[in-house]
Amino acid sequence: MIEVRNLHKYYGTLHVLRGIDVDIAKGEVFSVIGPSGSGKSTFLRCLNFLEEYQEGDVRFDGRLVGYRETVGKRLRAGAGSIAALRTRMGMVFQSFNLFSHKTVLENVMEGPVIVQKKPRGEVRTMALDLLAQVGLSEKAEQYPSKLSGGQQQRVGIARALAMQPEVMLFDEPTSALDPELVGEVLDVMKSLATGGMTMVIVTHEMSFAREVSDRVMMMDEGVVVEIDRPEVIFGSPRQARTADFLRRVV
Ligand code: ADP
Ligand code: MG
Repeated sequence: MIEVRNLHKYYGTLHVLRGIDVDIAKGEVFSVIGPSGSGKSTFLRCLNFLEEYQEGDVRFDGRLVGYRETVGKRLRAGAGSIAALRTRMGMVFQSFNLFSHKTVLENVMEGPVIVQKKPRGEVRTMALDLLAQVGLSEKAEQYPSKLSGGQQQRVGIARALAMQPEVMLFDEPTSALDPELVGEVLDVMKSLATGGMTMVIVTHEMSFAREVSDRVMMMDEGVVVEIDRPEVIFGSPRQARTADFLRRVV
């Protein structure tokens, strides 16, 4: 579903991604781990073109992400086609990014109603189902400021799901939460994974990554150190850099 070939990304002269190669299959739960500053967020943001990349290919469902293919030259895709691609890829960030002046239900309904122009009644029913799925039915009419961080993040997940994305991208969705609120968000993610959603998850929750991932990618300094099944990465990593990293964080 996602094909990444020789991906390079620069911020000015800073060479942040240095030739990433990976394929992520439909239905796969794919986690990304590695030290702070290794390029995990940048990698994730290149998948839906929140960041431009300068070299290599990112393909989603066979189509080049962010660029138009022309003979001998690469041109930026139009805003419409980039926006259309993004609706197919839900994203959940570390910060919750909810609209504070809208209720929980309105937050979840916003995308389908405004962007996808779906009928309100139909969207409302779906949004209420999603809120039930993340365990927040009783909070539908509340404003985000009345919710705990864990509840806000679950609304964030419901809001991303409301666009009926084909893949969900998570960038450290629990790292801003108080420890006692992490579990409820991970539980929602676990049930999504069990339900067959394709997921790319940047996380520092190692036991979670070990439990839910089909494969784990270890990154360091903008390169892939290794990609393997979680039993291998966490049990007997092939690369010393992975073992060193895990010794420091676990
Ligand atoms: P990680 O998510 O693994 O912590 P990031 O992808 O956020 O790493 O960052 C990788 C590197 O790129 C870091 O050196 C960071 O300082 C740099 N970086 C990230 N975002 C920007 C930006 N918008 N402009 C300039 N440098 C950035
Ligand atoms: Mg990051």
